[in-house]
Amino acid sequence: MRLDIISIFPEYFSPLDVSLIGKARERGTLDVRLHQLRDWARDVHKTVDDTPYGGGPGMVMKPEIWGAAIDEITEGGTPRMIVPTPSGRPFTQGLAQELAQEPWLLFCCGRYEGIDSRVMDEYGTRMRVDEVSIGDYVLAGGEVAVLVMVEAIGRLLPGVLGNAHSAVDDSFAPGAMQNLLEGPVYTKPPVWRGREVPEVLLSGHHGKVARWRRDEALRRTMKNRPDLVEALDASALDKRDREL
Ligand code: SAM
Repeated sequence: MRLDIISIFPEYFSPLDVSLIGKARERGTLDVRLHQLRDWARDVHKTVDDTPYGGGPGMVMKPEIWGAAIDEITEGGTPRMIVPTPSGRPFTQGLAQELAQEPWLLFCCGRYEGIDSRVMDEYGTRMRVDEVSIGDYVLAGGEVAVLVMVEAIGRLLPGVLGNAHSAVDDSFAPGAMQNLLEGPVYTKPPVWRGREVPEVLLSGHHGKVARWRRDEALRRTMKNRPDLVEALDASALDKRDREL
């Protein structure tokens, strides 16, 4: 998968050199290309922003600089363009899965009050453009949001996770965990500071372990995300689920 990221702070992306994503880049599973937006600015100060039409505080990123950058980077091809913004559609595990199927993503990191809207309108006629929010809060810039998205998408690519099955049991994973949070996890020793690992996990009985995990997932979801439980499709619940 090819990822192009345009930002005025490309140095924000050094975490992409390490861990799973770093290894995926070394192996060639992920081809990440960072671009400094200011390279397309025309004045000596490399200005990328200007005052907003209609007045108000803050600055807005200039369309012609974004246009020059995107035209050059996408010349001869059509990526799917992702623009992080708190006013976008929510970033979910489902969207991460959808984006993990794309061969090429272009991330455009806004700063200040964001990017002139005409940029999204213009490229929306040439490629799929999604404005995406990573949560109901406001960050200083799109870089951290893009790091979040790249990590969530990257770990779903074939061969990136050491054990492909670990994503199957994750919170929100399609299948048994759809719209559920993962329950508690344990490792050795069996007793730590007098606290015992639940006995069923030591039983070696796969069916009972699977049932226990689902029960715990439901309990945790009810406690931490009652909104998700309310949204669950009743037909996806069995008798035991309803008793919890
Ligand atoms: N004035 C904008 C608003 O209220 O919607 C906020 C702009 S914010 C200070 C600057 C940049 O940070 C945005 O253009 C976007 O790239 C990024 N950003 C901030 N919060 C975000 C969020 N929750 N999800 C994704 N990107 C975010």
